[in-house]
Amino acid sequence: MKKARLADGSIVLAHQFDAKVHTGDLCCADPDCGARMTFRRESLTHGSSAIRSASFVSKSVAEHNPLCTEYEDFKIMAQRRKSIEEGLKEGKTIVLNLNMKLSEAFNAAALPSDVVGMASTSEKGNYVTAPVKSVDDLLELRAVIEAKGGKPGLAKTVVNYKGKTLPIEEFVVDSQRKFGDLLDKMYKAVDRAKPGAEISEFPRLITFKATQNTKASEKGALRGTPITFYRDGGNKVILLQKAQVKKEFEETLRGENVFIIAAPTLQVNEARRLLSRLRTEREQTMFLNLNWQVTGVHQFTPVEEAPQPKAAAKPVPPKPGQQSMF
Ligand SMILES: [Zn+2]
Repeated sequence: MKKARLADGSIVLAHQFDAKVHTGDLCCADPDCGARMTFRRESLTHGSSAIRSASFVSKSVAEHNPLCTEYEDFKIMAQRRKSIEEGLKEGKTIVLNLNMKLSEAFNAAALPSDVVGMASTSEKGNYVTAPVKSVDDLLELRAVIEAKGGKPGLAKTVVNYKGKTLPIEEFVVDSQRKFGDLLDKMYKAVDRAKPGAEISEFPRLITFKATQNTKASEKGALRGTPITFYRDGGNKVILLQKAQVKKEFEETLRGENVFIIAAPTLQVNEARRLLSRLRTEREQTMFLNLNWQVTGVHQFTPVEEAPQPKAAAKPVPPKPGQQSMF
């Protein structure tokens, strides 16, 4: 595991851990689980062929609460891998059931684990399902699908949340174009919404690099990963990502690059104001906040890969008369 809970309740990432500073007992990161954890430093694997990164390991797997989001049940994971592999071989749709609490206002009863709202063309038995309790589960299952089924496998994979599904390709928002697509979708709802309302979309997986210094006035929020869009008339829109986080991991995430699964929200008034400014002003830089609520440790995990060259990060030049908002 890449996270653990300190005696004071705050969360520490494995690469942040310092035994001199973080004294006292370590617990499973899940606040409802009391399993004891121990730190394992970075080391060479058997045969010294690769580096095994620092992590936290359970003193005894049996101590975890079975409902714990960090529960390391290798047998269950192996079964999930196997059924996904078989499903891919048979050309079935893979349904990843997001069984995750994603906001404070959450009714666990409203999230049955096996209800799958599939398109009418999908006959029963035409798909295999796997539960996802944390962002780590999602990343692991996606890696299995990619390794065993390649691109065609991913193209047949959907994420299910509360009975609605989204193709995994759309669920993973990892480029400027995909952020533009997401905003387009949300802006369609902005037109119909009441003033003062908040627009929420289906959850997404993003990578979020939190800035080291978010203004003190914005307590409980972290800014990161701004995205620039060039619009007609020389206008520039900077999408500011804002992660609303609990105080137990506000310090944990500062300056970190993490994967997050959360539901994006837009303030309707702010979104409309931007639209009217875009219509009337020229040569301006404008800002828009996209909010991501992070209420649990299962919603984030550190990005571990070496930084990739950013080929797709170039700003897209303005196209006059573009149909979409972004
Ligand atoms: Zn646990």
